[in-house]
Amino acid sequence: MTDKLSENLDPIAMSEQQFTQAACYIKELKEGLIDFLKYPKRITIVNFPIEMDDASVQSFQGYRVLHNQVFGPGKGGIRFHPSVTMDEVTSLAKLMTWKCALVNIPFGGAKGGVVCNTKELSEGELRRITRRFTTELADNIGPHTDIPAPDLYTNEQTMAWIFDTYDMLHPGKNNRPVVTGKPIEMGGSYGRKNATGNGVYYVTERFLSKSLIPEYQSIAGTKIVIQGFGNVGAATAEAFIRNGATVIAVSDSVGGVYDENGLSLEELIAFKAEHGTVVGMHNTMTITNEEILELECDILIPAALSNQIHSGNAHKINALLVVEAANNPTTPEADKILCERGIYLLPDIIVNAGGVTVSYFEWVQNQDNQRWELDEINTRLQKRMNSVMDTVFDRWQRYVVGEDVVSDDSIIKLSDGDKPGFRNIALSIAIERVAKATLMRGIWP
Ligand code: NAD
Repeated sequence: MTDKLSENLDPIAMSEQQFTQAACYIKELKEGLIDFLKYPKRITIVNFPIEMDDASVQSFQGYRVLHNQVFGPGKGGIRFHPSVTMDEVTSLAKLMTWKCALVNIPFGGAKGGVVCNTKELSEGELRRITRRFTTELADNIGPHTDIPAPDLYTNEQTMAWIFDTYDMLHPGKNNRPVVTGKPIEMGGSYGRKNATGNGVYYVTERFLSKSLIPEYQSIAGTKIVIQGFGNVGAATAEAFIRNGATVIAVSDSVGGVYDENGLSLEELIAFKAEHGTVVGMHNTMTITNEEILELECDILIPAALSNQIHSGNAHKINALLVVEAANNPTTPEADKILCERGIYLLPDIIVNAGGVTVSYFEWVQNQDNQRWELDEINTRLQKRMNSVMDTVFDRWQRYVVGEDVVSDDSIIKLSDGDKPGFRNIALSIAIERVAKATLMRGIWP
């Protein structure tokens, strides 16, 4: 049971809070730019009818938010989930702007979603929703405008339908770069499916090598708990197990399974494919999605929904390190509690950036109809993830040892007792880059 929440879970309020805390660490931030950086460039809301399999008609609502295009076209996933809201999509689009800037890829931030429950829809209904949504977005998406990718409850198949729809509407052009995360046969990239999970592994391994956690300098021998066993959760489990970790618990929307001696990845995948959930797998103990977060482990990896670690359960987290594979899994209040408890947290903006990085590789390959080998993709990915972790760690360390201090001239002030976390520092680097580039371009007209 979690305790009562004492915080505002509004996604816009939370992302504003994160922005404000990060902005304290930015040396020069022109005051007039703050609102430009905070608010999205464009919000598209569409309503459309779909003919269902039983000949009834249902209406659906979808969103695409383009937050910022200073570095290039918008980039960000499309999610299909009953709890999708415009505010959630907006806050995730903003996070994408910072993520792309942090990993130095020439994209801005965007995100999209359709309010629907994929578990209650047939494949035909999903295809019609995807095609109609894509048509409604019209030229708000495009290879040089805004490029979608998979996210919660969307996958390679969804991307293939988006590509096909866009291609039908724009014949005679190379439209492959309109969307990433496509099937390999349709111009998808080797390594994209596991990119986010591999990135989670590379960043964690790099972080452990810094010796901040004396118990572990490497993943080998660590005990891991993963909430969520979808695309990201399963690929993360694979990368960690391959490198000598023991995954003691995983979960999905139904619940979780636990075995203190370690779960078999092959059995998890086979059981989930047959039963639609990991719950019930032989020789495992069933646990809830709340309990899984409180298990004693070395590394806790939320890889499902937002707001999973909050003021009601942050004091019960029993890990040395939290690694955010999902987007926004930790609330600002929980961030503070974990920091006070000495639990390190690697934030989403670094941890799950492997997905958008290989999406960028896919986009580059599509421009020239090239195909890079898997080894090349993974080598490039690891190099980037290591470099991002190093950049953030070095800046963080400078603040911790006092080489860098928050300037008294900073427009936004720190509250008493605020300590820099990796999220503040990573966000501050990204926001600073976007702010600088905005001014370097020169403000139009
Ligand atoms: P997915 O749809 O493939 O998997 C989602 C998983 O979450 C499933 O296992 C589902 O059962 C589980 N889940 C759903 N409701 C749950 C609940 N209430 N409690 C626990 N688990 C629950 O989605 P995904 O692509 O793996 O995305 C997971 C997270 O990672 C999201 O936050 C997404 O934004 C983020 N992300 C994804 C990518 C990517 O490349 N797919 C990249 C960056 C970030």
